[in-house]
Amino acid sequence: MKFIPFLKPNIVKKEAYLKYLAQIDEARLYSNFGPLNSIFEKRVLSEYFNDLGAITTINNATTALILAISVTKRPDAKYALMPSFTFAATPLAAMWCGLKPYFIDIHEDNWCMNEKQVDHALEKLGDQVAVIIPYATFGTCLDLTYYDKLQHSKVPVIVDAAPAFGTSGNNGQLGKEFSGIIVFSLHATKPFGIGEGALVYSNRSEIIAQIRRASNFGFSDGRECLFQGLNGKLSEYSAAIALATLDEFPQKVHKRNTLHKIYCEHFKKNNFFEKGWVMQKTSGKIPYQFISVLGPKKLSNLDIVRYLKDNTIQSRTYFSPPCHKQQSFLRYPHSEITVTEKITQRILNLPLWEEMSEIEISRIVSTLNKMGR
Ligand SMILES: *Cc1c(COP(=O)(O)O)cnc(C)c1O
Repeated sequence: MKFIPFLKPNIVKKEAYLKYLAQIDEARLYSNFGPLNSIFEKRVLSEYFNDLGAITTINNATTALILAISVTKRPDAKYALMPSFTFAATPLAAMWCGLKPYFIDIHEDNWCMNEKQVDHALEKLGDQVAVIIPYATFGTCLDLTYYDKLQHSKVPVIVDAAPAFGTSGNNGQLGKEFSGIIVFSLHATKPFGIGEGALVYSNRSEIIAQIRRASNFGFSDGRECLFQGLNGKLSEYSAAIALATLDEFPQKVHKRNTLHKIYCEHFKKNNFFEKGWVMQKTSGKIPYQFISVLGPKKLSNLDIVRYLKDNTIQSRTYFSPPCHKQQSFLRYPHSEITVTEKITQRILNLPLWEEMSEIEISRIVSTLNKMGR
């Protein structure tokens, strides 16, 4: 049986960015917000955010989270509220900023942070909350109304939307006009993959200008270090790949969205939902990074992963174990967290890559269907 990998990054081929590389040789500018980086930022702002607000590139989303937290956190406060059901980068970023992660449970249906529990933690911790970092789980078009309100009530909000560049709802791109900060990753494994990179957006241009300074050593225009920054800049080589990716991105979004639909059809045809399988309740059009489902209650996700592996199919269990159960984060507080504990025993991520066809999807679903027979 042919091996089916979990991911197969499909970064644009060199032919698509040779013309941009030639421009680098010509300009002899290799970083420091060079010409290609500027064109990329301008195009993203106009093509995805209607020229509202501002955007800055960063060399990866983890650094972007660190810088966003560091320039917005309330002074003298100590907690960063976030879901436990997220990637380790988020609590790590809080720790690098001298904060303590405080883990919150998720909703049973969309697997995003539970706003009622956020309210509850805010009541309990008051001024000790430095920042709130929700996650647009697996790229869903998270409704930001609640977080916009929090931002206006002076609790800074940073949305981890790592895999969600290209996710759109009725209003267009997720995050458009958001008054907090939203971070997208351009890592090779994300839908807008370029290797390493990130985009940071807010409708408040001044906060983006501050993050941009932070990514350049906290320098003033006169190159005096004004505050604690670091080097988080995107190189012109990465900007070249990013520009070429922008040209092909609408087709990539469409492909990923279509593959997800084909999976759903095959699940339905095989009565998976009657048999206890559950899909994430998502909203908007999503350039799915992979497929995320809950297996039937009686099966452990680790058993399913092992069974698929025996059948030459690679799968994952993101984000299990959840953050609050990982060694580095055990000492930090969390809310009541039963939904996360239940879901992380069942979460299963299935392969999705752009050159995949219905043949592979059909084989994956029928292999799962035979499990336990
Ligand atoms: C990928 C990812 C990150 C980290 O992004 P990098 O660009 O690799 O640093 C953070 N949070 C989530 C949820 C992610 O999926």
